Amino acid sequence: MSGNFDNNTICKLFGIRFPIIQAGMIWCSGWELASAVSNAGGLGIIGSGSMYPDVLREQIRKCKVATGKPFAVNVPLLYPDIDEHIRIIIEEGVKIVFTSAGNPKTYTALLKEKGITVVHVVSAVKFALKCQEAGVDAIVAEGFEAGGHNGREETTTLVLIPAVRQAVKLPLIAAGGIGSGAQMAAAFALGADAVQVGSRFVATPESSAHINFKNAVVNAKEGDTQLTLKQLTPVRLIKNRFFKEVDAAEKAGANAEALQTLLGRARAKKGMHEGDLEEGELEIGQVSGSIHEIKPAAQIVEEMIGEFRSVLERLKSI
Ligand code: NDP
Repeated sequence: MSGNFDNNTICKLFGIRFPIIQAGMIWCSGWELASAVSNAGGLGIIGSGSMYPDVLREQIRKCKVATGKPFAVNVPLLYPDIDEHIRIIIEEGVKIVFTSAGNPKTYTALLKEKGITVVHVVSAVKFALKCQEAGVDAIVAEGFEAGGHNGREETTTLVLIPAVRQAVKLPLIAAGGIGSGAQMAAAFALGADAVQVGSRFVATPESSAHINFKNAVVNAKEGDTQLTLKQLTPVRLIKNRFFKEVDAAEKAGANAEALQTLLGRARAKKGMHEGDLEEGELEIGQVSGSIHEIKPAAQIVEEMIGEFRSVLERLKSI
């Protein structure tokens, strides 16, 4: 590994300079963050999960104005209006789509037929194999450390990446617990071709998260997040009042229906967009414990690459 990415599979696939992908994150990754990361040489992603179709169209158009570089749209398949989102993505000429939280077979053929590069996010080897069958161009393998929706098996990034690397030949992007150049180097050592970074990019001026949420990320310490709601869709959250209510309900034996009632509607919007730190869902990864300041997306990309290169140098002398 040289630290120069001219022959990197993912850089070539997307036409980018550095193998750093910014994760699609509801309420956090609109056009400002996506274009900032793309302009810095990574791949920015618009997170469409929190966008009504007309909002998504506007965000794509703004992103095209803000960057001439490649960017992508993430489509979490558990949200409503997916057909409409896919139609808009095709109409607007988006070149790269990351699908997640659903079956990779649903849209891959259609998107590929339109000339779009397709990546799917998985949390286990069995899903990686499904991606291979579905004909995706690359995989994101996301470990247990990651924020937001997450796998039920709780496989950590350290275990997941080599297992997926061994099972499939597709270009592999590691995610979950990666927010620094050292963590990036570790992911490459495990067999990844690139990294996807979510939490670190939430605490940026360009992220569309509420400032209260950005500050909560900066203030979070090791152990402040936990995976919950496993009977519904598992999600990693900061342990606030809402989390504690869910935890108490689960310990008292609440069933899925009762938990759904407790979750109610638009909890994620309340927490991450409206900044209600007590009653909202605050979706963030374990790596938030090592994020201590809000800084520009371009600086994060530059620092990660610098640290990645110095880690490679240090490892040479071991
Ligand atoms: P909800 O389903 O509770 O509410 C929808 C939210 O998404 C609202 O804030 C809404 O905005 C916004 N939104 C954006 N685009 C659309 C659209 N096209 N149609 C409807 N709403 C849209 O959102 P969640 O994100 O909390 O959950 C999504 C799904 O995942 C639900 O099925 C939920 O049961 C499930 N789930 C989610 C969990 C989570 O942590 N988010 C945990 C467990 C399950 P507005 O308020 O402006 O209308």
